[in-house]
Amino acid sequence: MPTTASPALIEALQRAVGSQHVLHAPEDLIAYEYDATIDRARPDAVLFPATAEQVAAVVRAANQYDVPVIPRGSGTGLSGGTVPVKGGVVVALTRMNRIVEVDAVNRVAVVEPGVVNLQLQEALAPLRLAWAPDPSSQRICTVGGNIANNSGGPHTLAHGSTVNHVLGLEVVVSDGRVINLGGRVLDAPGIDLRGLFVGSEGTLGIVTQATIRLVPAAPDVRTMLAIFDSVDEASAAVSAIIRNGVIPVALEMLDQEIIKLVEPRIHAGYPLDAGAVLLIEVEGLSEGVAVEADAVIEACRACGAREVRSADTQPARDKLWEGRKVGIGAIGAAAPAFYLLDGVVPRTKLPQVMRRVLELSAQYGFKCANIFHAGDGNLHPNIMFDPQEEGATQRVLDLGGEIMRLCVDVGGSITGEHGIGLEKRSYMEWVFSPPDLAAMERVRLAFGSADRFNPCKILPGGHGCATGHADELARHIAKPGVYI
Ligand SMILES: Cc1cc2nc3c(=O)[nH]c(=O)nc-3n(C[C@H](O)[C@H](O)[C@H](O)COP(=O)(O)OP(=O)(O)OC[C@H]3O[C@@H](n4cnc5c(N)ncnc54)[C@H](O)[C@@H]3O)c2cc1C
Repeated sequence: MPTTASPALIEALQRAVGSQHVLHAPEDLIAYEYDATIDRARPDAVLFPATAEQVAAVVRAANQYDVPVIPRGSGTGLSGGTVPVKGGVVVALTRMNRIVEVDAVNRVAVVEPGVVNLQLQEALAPLRLAWAPDPSSQRICTVGGNIANNSGGPHTLAHGSTVNHVLGLEVVVSDGRVINLGGRVLDAPGIDLRGLFVGSEGTLGIVTQATIRLVPAAPDVRTMLAIFDSVDEASAAVSAIIRNGVIPVALEMLDQEIIKLVEPRIHAGYPLDAGAVLLIEVEGLSEGVAVEADAVIEACRACGAREVRSADTQPARDKLWEGRKVGIGAIGAAAPAFYLLDGVVPRTKLPQVMRRVLELSAQYGFKCANIFHAGDGNLHPNIMFDPQEEGATQRVLDLGGEIMRLCVDVGGSITGEHGIGLEKRSYMEWVFSPPDLAAMERVRLAFGSADRFNPCKILPGGHGCATGHADELARHIAKPGVYI
């Protein structure tokens, strides 16, 4: 199948980044049709710039030939953010992977967008510093992707999501100019375009450099595993811990389905007969850590924990965390396919919502495994299915829509951290009014980026954006309050 890109466009792109850094053969493009979720579409070309100037030259070429530009990090996104629905050029930032500067005294670093999150953490660890955003995909996802999606992670509960840890951005915008947002200090003067850009999912421009805020490693850390007979009890314990006056730095839940997949591979010590476990971490000065750990244990016991174990050594802590970090991969190994959902609910609603998620999954005839940032009320039901089975993909998407609607109905929202992307843009009308959405559209227009950068993402509608399964579903289940 020939590529749809004109030879003149390909030549312009080759001039911008060097011909060896442009892919346009169909067999090469296949790998860039999708991210970590279900939708896919073929780009016209994929290119790998090495500098902001090259990125700017690519954007100018895209303007000249009027094609969309889709920024891409590692493609681990879970909402179709890098899927080039209208074709165009995918700009993969993975060659821009230098840690430019680490200023340990002022706790600031300057990095290129293609730096992999874990590589950054490994470079900072000897200085007893960290970048707080730690998505479970950190072995592969990039800082640029984290910024674009305002990513979270296990430690978001205490530290907040990525937006709290970005000071300044260098960005290529739609006219091909390089601009700077924010700065190197916490409260940069002027309108906070940095805050506006973080979480804009590649729709306003391309991040070519970021100045980020670093946090110091805590003097003492305690990681605990609380073991429960049911998801219900574990869910109740999440609220009880916080009611007891403790905000752990991490508060994660793994249900029985996940435990059964992870434990035989990792031997993290999760009991195979547990209904659910909570992985809880507190940190700070030793005296405070001891007091907080006692409060956590008390809250868990009051909610029916059959045991709370404490990992006191670094290897024991690492083992508990390894089970959490490989959990999603373990589902991938166990099922032909799975659909990872992301919704958020007030944490007090967790018991009732988790019950309903399991009921709905059973009604649709799917197995559902849950591994999530429980402290944030950030659910991640993983629906396992076989795409070869007739109608299964559509049913799994319908189930996903019902679960999102459920989150909204209890006062939550349609994403906790994975973004809206392509997947959930139709659901935006469930949480924002038409004037709210129009204001977002105007921001996009102000950046001159509506048709240039990542079209058909975040906002419903859009010129030439075909309606898909999600749009149909959004219409179908638009009536609030019906699922709980
Ligand atoms: C197993 C697994 C676990 C995960 N766990 C978490 C988790 O705990 N928390 C969480 O928040 N997410 C998680 N994710 C989702 C995903 O890893 C994050 O959204 C991540 O930040 C995406 O990074 P990426 O480099 O892969 O970006 P991509 O998927 O390549 O891109 C994501 C979005 O960012 C845009 N983008 C990328 N780079 C740039 C740039 N330089 N400038 C402008 N826009 C850009 C893209 O256009 C796209 O819209 C997980 C995913 C997987 C597969």
